[in-house]
Amino acid sequence: MIATGQPVSAAAPAVMKVAELTSELTIRPAERPVPKAADGWAVIRVDAAGVCGTELHFLDGLMDPRGTPRVLGHEAAGMVCETSGRSELLGMAAAVYNVVNCGSCRYCRTGRDRLCLRSGGMIGFTVDGGFSEYMLAPEANLVPLPPAVAPEEGAVLACSGMTAVHAVRLSGIGLDSPVVINGVGGVGLMLIQAARLAGATVAAVGDDPTKLAMAESLGARACVTARTPEDYSTLDQQVCDLLGRRPDVFFETVGTRETMRAGLRSLAPAGAFVQIGYTAQPYDFHPGELIKNELRIITSAAGSKEDLETAVSLAAQGRMKTVISGRTDLAGLTDAIEGLRDRRVLGRNVVVYNR
Ligand SMILES: [Zn+2]
Ligand SMILES: [Zn+2]
Repeated sequence: MIATGQPVSAAAPAVMKVAELTSELTIRPAERPVPKAADGWAVIRVDAAGVCGTELHFLDGLMDPRGTPRVLGHEAAGMVCETSGRSELLGMAAAVYNVVNCGSCRYCRTGRDRLCLRSGGMIGFTVDGGFSEYMLAPEANLVPLPPAVAPEEGAVLACSGMTAVHAVRLSGIGLDSPVVINGVGGVGLMLIQAARLAGATVAAVGDDPTKLAMAESLGARACVTARTPEDYSTLDQQVCDLLGRRPDVFFETVGTRETMRAGLRSLAPAGAFVQIGYTAQPYDFHPGELIKNELRIITSAAGSKEDLETAVSLAAQGRMKTVISGRTDLAGLTDAIEGLRDRRVLGRNVVVYNR
């Protein structure tokens, strides 16, 4: 059971369990001193930390943790148990916005906090994160969780929920715009809901019948099964048939050459291809294909604190649902990460802490 809502500042132990990324790019259990709050940062007793596909990029050496050992876990929620100034936060359930930012540069002031000119890194990437019984986070990065949003939901919202809200905001979806969401993993399932809330008519593309059934239950009007490059070569016609016309927006969460090319070729004139998150694959099309129809490529990575606040608010109202497929403890973290390789995880696995 997860205990929530009780301040534990007096009862916090001196030592905590963590799972850390080593210089050999493995995850190992370790013990560390429980950190102390200082300089605008608070100590959070972590109640839940989502296991994201991004973790694979660290294990595969594609992302730089800027020093090891590093505690990953960028999707975290828990209870504030020590602050360095704002005592009113003590005992509050909160999701952690993971971009350490200045709060005052032109990007921070305009909802693009992730692009902060004076960023201090990202919690769970280059700053120790939530695969740890306790963690540090800037007090300014704490987003309160109302009682209707459990810590594990808050954790998932702190990555895929926020990411979906951000991408939909950048996409400029219009009322009844036909849109395609390619990929029905953790982010895709959130995107379906966010795009619907913005007024879109959604077709979801995926390779797994169970995930596509979930996509339909979350609001996708139509679903397309696509697994192979051949399937993607006819995607434009399939989505056109299902939506009645070409899509105005194609959200890409898969990131292979074939899927990215298929997405661009499916778009209506003046449409937007929205690339979400990281891909190592190059684009494979001639610029003329964009220019002749004034197509746009928009990239979207993570989101702002306001995007996370929006995701939490929508979840509290029951308008954005998180899909949690399983729970594990820290000892099961490596298995949970590796389980993401074959894209068989429905929604998100979450690390929880037995206390
Ligand atoms: Zn994530
Ligand atoms: Zn800034």
